[in-house]
Amino acid sequence: MPNLLCSVCRIRRSKSGGLCATHYRRWLAGEPDWNRPIDTPGRRNVAGEHNPSAILTEADVATIRRRYSDGAATQTTLADQFGVSQAEISKIVNGKAWT
Ligand SMILES: [Zn+2]
Repeated sequence: MPNLLCSVCRIRRSKSGGLCATHYRRWLAGEPDWNRPIDTPGRRNVAGEHNPSAILTEADVATIRRRYSDGAATQTTLADQFGVSQAEISKIVNGKAWT
């Protein structure tokens, strides 16, 4: 069953337990409104596979930068967790995207 979509947002691919990385993380964190939609600036109908930054929120980017600078995760780990390419993570942590 490849490329299942998140059972909440139906936009992102599911990573764990039928949820995308963002919804899974919110659920794990016990946020009361964890299943609210993901706020995407300039919302698109379909998150483009060819436009990886489209599926990250500003909050995701802040989390990525923090976890990477803390040494809590590698670029590869973050790329897998957030469903984007390692190159995209590299651009984010090096300030070449989402600045
Ligand atoms: Zn989701």
